Order: sequence, then structure tokens, then C-alpha cells
Amino acid sequence: MASHEEQFKKLIAHAKEYGFIFPSSEIYDGLAAVYDYGQYGVELKNNIRQYWWKSMVQMHENVVGLDSAIFMHPTIWKASGHVDAFSDPLIDNKDSKKRYRVDVMLEDYCAKIEDKINKEVEKAAKRFGDSFDKEQFVTTNPRVLEYRQKIENTLQRMNKNLTENNLSDLKTLIEELEIACPVSGTRNWTDIRHFNLMFSTQIGSLAEDANTVYLRPETAQGIFVNFLNVQKTSRMKIPFGIAQTGKAFRNEIVARQFVFRMREFEQMEMQFFVRPGTEMEWYEYWKQSRIEWHKSLGIPAEKFRFHDHEKLAHYANAAVDIQFEFMFGFRELEGIHSRTDYDLAQHQEFSGKKMQYFDPDLNESYVPYVVETSIGLDRMCLAMLSHAYNEEVLEDGSTRVVMKFPPVLAPYKIAILPLVKKDGMPEKAREIMSLLQHDFMCQYDEKDAIGRRYRRQDAIGTPFCITVDTQTMEDNTVTIRYRDTMQQERIAISEIANVARKNL
Ligand code: ATP
Repeated sequence: MASHEEQFKKLIAHAKEYGFIFPSSEIYDGLAAVYDYGQYGVELKNNIRQYWWKSMVQMHENVVGLDSAIFMHPTIWKASGHVDAFSDPLIDNKDSKKRYRVDVMLEDYCAKIEDKINKEVEKAAKRFGDSFDKEQFVTTNPRVLEYRQKIENTLQRMNKNLTENNLSDLKTLIEELEIACPVSGTRNWTDIRHFNLMFSTQIGSLAEDANTVYLRPETAQGIFVNFLNVQKTSRMKIPFGIAQTGKAFRNEIVARQFVFRMREFEQMEMQFFVRPGTEMEWYEYWKQSRIEWHKSLGIPAEKFRFHDHEKLAHYANAAVDIQFEFMFGFRELEGIHSRTDYDLAQHQEFSGKKMQYFDPDLNESYVPYVVETSIGLDRMCLAMLSHAYNEEVLEDGSTRVVMKFPPVLAPYKIAILPLVKKDGMPEKAREIMSLLQHDFMCQYDEKDAIGRRYRRQDAIGTPFCITVDTQTMEDNTVTIRYRDTMQQERIAISEIANVARKNL
């Protein structure tokens, strides 16, 4: 079996070859960590966005939408803490001149130890056979315990240093662990520095009155500064939420792993405003609600896990990540944060405008507390691409690559294929296409043998292929082929929409 790394390379190649995701500016050799979505990628992305929007806004009476601008008043980013604190600790290797994010480097180091633990478990499982008790093994085996302790000590010391901004001990830690640069292989490191992740530019045409503005690094602040506009015009009562999707920009130091970490990406965020003191209830509610959303797509539950934050951001009193098992291991897909009244209180102070809500039930005014759910749309695309990608060996020994997307997210839902390019079949197929295309993304394809056309649809993840053949011309029935099982059935043309709808 191919290693995870090889699998991931294959997925990236497939995403490019089949028009899901291209490197940006490719003819100019690309632009690091920026990507373009092709004809199938854009459909996948739109479908994920819509699925999120429906579940968050359409299905929640107390959540409404917003689309705020990317440029905002620069003081917003002072108030939010981004100008002073939105930075990552970075270190350079003097020999390779490569730059690394210190926390990522240390987490990778721990992930390698975790791999060693997994190998020990695998070895023991083989040795003991059926009588193997994994729980007992990992809690008693001295080597595993030693590894675990090492991970714990490393993460604890890292988090303490990050919280206290103790960059020199952070460097000592890297030296003590003898971490080497994967490119040069040396341990010749610079000191650790902070690097602000916000992109800035100038607004205004004349140099003298030009003002520095930032490309927003998160969509959340657009929601906070519109909190009262939306609350008053929608007559929302607390608790209620505001949802928004849109681009965010971060000058990431370590930009790799394809669309997992990009410099220009899209977020889907919801800020839920609650009465102070009730935030933990809502935090639990949204934690559950969001994990259910992921599972509702039919992805196996073991692909997800919660990961509590050990180091809380300056604005949070509780935070958890929903991690997904990508091809390179479990990583953050979505964050759920209890942000207290930090943001609204900061904006109240910096703008001098009241950010309070009058609660008619309590007959008093207060600055609401906020629970946030924040998911990266591109990361969700990557999660779906990784989950969907399957290489299957068929009965005749040939292989097929099939993208088993949850049908509701599949870029195209139905392919319509005349068996041959004559005897009125193309015309009939076009007729069927025009019946369905108002309701479903449909693709017409008459080129090549039918087997090859099926493969092409498998490769882009189309759940249903409809084939028009001689019998269709006689009795208005077609064959419907199901992507995952490759089974075929004969159904009436008038039934296609129902069958598709039922499966979607
Ligand atoms: P990380 O620790 O991976 O840098 P983060 O904790 O800074 O992420 P948040 O600020 O909580 O991320 O952002 C919310 C979500 O936005 C993340 O869960 C992720 O899905 C997405 N996201 C953040 N940064 C990026 C990026 N550079 N590229 C793609 N998606 C991103």
C-alpha cells in the first residue's frame, strides 16, 4: 500500500488533473500557498458553503447572515489585538535559510514520537495476536510511557513559554531536543522572533493622505462591528447568532500541505451572542451541533476528534478544535471558542460607541458574551477530497480512481450519456438533460466508449450516470449507474429526478 505521503501526492495530482484545484499563477511558476479552484473545485466549494449556510442560517431561526467588507477601519485590528498579538514565533536555519514556525516544529516533533508509539502498538499487536489488550499495553509498557511523558513535557514547556513569551527558553527547548532542519540537517538556528501575520496595504490615492489598512485575517471582526446594526434591524433577541463566509488573509510562515494552510483562504464563521454567565452552556451546544454537522455528511465518526486547547488565546475562556484525520494525520479543521465579551468590550473602548444590548427579560443592559464557530472552507474541501479519494481494484484486474463525495457535495450530480452517437440517442439524451438541469448539476458526455466515460465521472465523483440506449428509444427507460457500487438499474425517465433526490 502507498504511504500516506505518496497518497497525498496522488491526491494533489488528481485534484489538478481533474480540474479541482490548480496552483495559482502556474504559468509564472506559481505563487506560494495560493491556489485557484477549477471547474469541479468551485462546485465542491460552493456546495460545502451552501450546506454550511443552510444548516447554520436556514435551519436556525435565531441565526442570520452578513457579508461585511474585507477592508475595515485600521483601528479595528488594534482593538481586536491583531496589530500587537497576531503573530507566530519563527526561527531560521542559518545553513538552509529556511524559516519555521516554532510551535509547528515542536508539534511535528511530538507527532513523530506519537508515530513511534503507534509502531510499538502495531508490533505488540502482532506479537500477542488475539490476546492483545491495547489499553493495557499503552498504559503499562515502559517505552510507551516514556514516549508519552516526553510528548507531555515538550508541549507543556512550549505552551508555558508561548504564554509567557519566553522566547529564549523556547530556543533552549529546541536545542535540548536536538531538533535539526529537515533541509540542511544542521542545528544552526537563529534566535526566535515574532512575525505578524497580517498583510497591509495603502488606501487612498495620494501618498500624504494614504492610510495603512489590513486585509482581514479573520471574518469575525466584521460581525462584531456590525453586531448592533444587525440586532436592531432584525429585532433579534439574545441569544442569537450572525454568520458570514468570506476571504481571509494571513502571511503564513510555514505554508505547505496544499490547501490546508494558505495565505489567501476562506472562512465560514458564526458568532453567537449570549447572556454573560450562560456561555458555557452555549459552548457545549455548539460543540455538539458542529460535530453532528460533520457526521451528517456520512463521514465515519473515527475520522474526527475533539482537541482542547492547552494555551488559550488572549480573548478566550474555553476553546476546542474539531480535528479531522487528514492524510498527514489529525489536524485542526474547525475551532469553537468561547470569546467572552472581549471583542465587543474592546470595540466599545476603542470606538467610544456603546456595544450593549438591552435585555427586556432582565430589564438591564450588558455587553454580550460570544461563542464562535469557525471553519476553514478550503480545509473542509481538503477534508472532503481526502475522504473521497479511493483507488479500487476491479474484478477484471483494472483499477479505478473514484471520488466518493457525500452526494450532496458532489460537483456534478448526474451525467447523461448516450450509448452511441446515432439512432436518435444524443437527441434523447439532450431532452433528458433539459428536464433535469434546472434542479441538478448535469453533465452531457458522448465521447469515447461508455466504460471510459464512467471512469471519467468516477474521477470527478458524479453519483449517478444515466445511459440512453436502444431500449430507451422504445420504452422511455434508461439505466442508472451508482458511483460507489457500480450497480446498474433500469428506471423510467420520469423517475430519474426522484431517485436522485432520494439519494441526495
Ligand atoms: P492553525 O493553528 O492551523 O494556524 P488557527 O488556530 O490559527 O489555525 P483559527 O484562527 O481558529 O485557526 O481559524 C479558524 C479556521 O480557519 C481554522 O480552523 C482553519 O480551518 C481555517 N484556517 C486558519 N488559517 C488557515 C490557513 N492559513 N489556510 C486555510 N485555512 C485556515
